[in-house]
Amino acid sequence: ADVELVPDGAFRFRIPRGEGMRVPGVVFASAELLPDVAGDQALQQVVNVATLPGIVGASYAMPDVHWGYGFPIGGVAATEPDAGGVISPGGVGFDISCGVRLLAAHCGSESLAPRLRQLMDVLSARVPRGPGRGGIWTLRRAELGEVLTGGARYPVEHGRGVARDLVRCEDGGVLAGAAADEVSERAVDRGLGQVGSLGSGNHFLEVQKVQKVYDERAAQVMGLGEGQVCVMIHCGSRGLGHQICTDHVRTMDRAMDRYGIRVPDRQLACVPADSAEGRSYLAAMAAAANYARANRQVLGDTARRAFAEVMHCPVDLVYDISHNMAKMETHTVDGRERRLCVHRKGATRALPARHPELPDDLAAVGQPVLIPGTMGTASYVLAGVEGGGAWHSTCHGAGRVRSRHRAAREVDGRRLREDLEAAGVVVRGSSARGLAEEAPLAYKDIDAVVRASEGAGLCRRVARLVPLGVLKG
Ligand code: 5GP
Ligand code: MN
Ligand code: MN
Repeated sequence: ADVELVPDGAFRFRIPRGEGMRVPGVVFASAELLPDVAGDQALQQVVNVATLPGIVGASYAMPDVHWGYGFPIGGVAATEPDAGGVISPGGVGFDISCGVRLLAAHCGSESLAPRLRQLMDVLSARVPRGPGRGGIWTLRRAELGEVLTGGARYPVEHGRGVARDLVRCEDGGVLAGAAADEVSERAVDRGLGQVGSLGSGNHFLEVQKVQKVYDERAAQVMGLGEGQVCVMIHCGSRGLGHQICTDHVRTMDRAMDRYGIRVPDRQLACVPADSAEGRSYLAAMAAAANYARANRQVLGDTARRAFAEVMHCPVDLVYDISHNMAKMETHTVDGRERRLCVHRKGATRALPARHPELPDDLAAVGQPVLIPGTMGTASYVLAGVEGGGAWHSTCHGAGRVRSRHRAAREVDGRRLREDLEAAGVVVRGSSARGLAEEAPLAYKDIDAVVRASEGAGLCRRVARLVPLGVLKG
């Protein structure tokens, strides 16, 4: 079926309420960025999400929206638990709390240039990647339990990081409400050997340089300046998060009937957020979120040590933020404060300046938002703004336009590697096929996505980063 899109202001389209929709759809994008209606079901998914019980406001899509499991990737939806609002694992995604960590090295790109290859070799030797087992930090079962409740704090307390790191993590690095006993044996088994590992595909560790600063003051507060070397890490909760999503989708698929819930797509399996099954998922999801944060903490610590050895320079954490989460938040809707369960799937929270959840220094400029683009183009640091729409959310990346399969068919991975190297980007890890699947041409134009996000009033630009070396999952 065709989805009706009505232009509704700058970088904004509206999908009017049709049959079964409890709220309208709102798509933030330029006309060029809109998903190709014939080839991508993302807009139909925006419509499907609008039918979920207890949804409030609208079913939102960010400029990087594309097809996903149940919810589109780049989808945001808030439900009100007190009004029967549901929680749906498809609105979080399989890689629970997948996210981005950015570190700033105290060195410039000229001083790194002669050592870049050596640095990439050291990182390549120390950072486990690919789909299988193997992590930097092998844990026993009891220790893994501590990670599930302690998040990034646990590695910091065990010498893998410094106290200031936690100040520069969303939620202080620890998501409250996690319960290790809600995590299945199978999920624990999968998680044991993977703390401190990238995983496959689009996950990466990239050495970058700040190519341009748009907001001097914000950049300064975040510890960023033009020419500065950074490390961007993109990964999530590995097999543990995937297993938790699988477990709970199955449970909810069976429980939905009992709650009288019908959804237009089975992948939208959901239950009331305050039901037994809903609470169980939220506790397990929080555990996976803590695992993801600990994972990025360990990887960040490893990158920091590599810089100390090769460059003899310190590295500070800029920020760590996830883009696959559901969170209980308070928002004012129709003049009334309400507790909402905000699903962000391939979307990033973007809190404005002076928000109470931000640490003092960042409160002056707004929440840092970390946006990977591609290994051949650019990535961005953004910040939250006053009045930001979609419950203070923005994009999370460039967003895929070609499936892995199609990208692999159209791109010669070996050639791509040569082109990147010729352009000065050192490539480590990944097979030729893996590289082709993640080729820049598989993604939307990151500059256009960020322009649309800013133009729609969701965020503002702080800095643009370009790749120097990439270690692919
Ligand atoms: P996702 O979380 O949806 O899996 O991916 C987030 C975003 O990461 C993608 O939309 C894409 O823009 C970006 N990305 C994928 N691979 C790379 C890479 O190698 N380098 C950079 N900088 N970004 C990437
Ligand atoms: Mn991921
Ligand atoms: Mn991700």
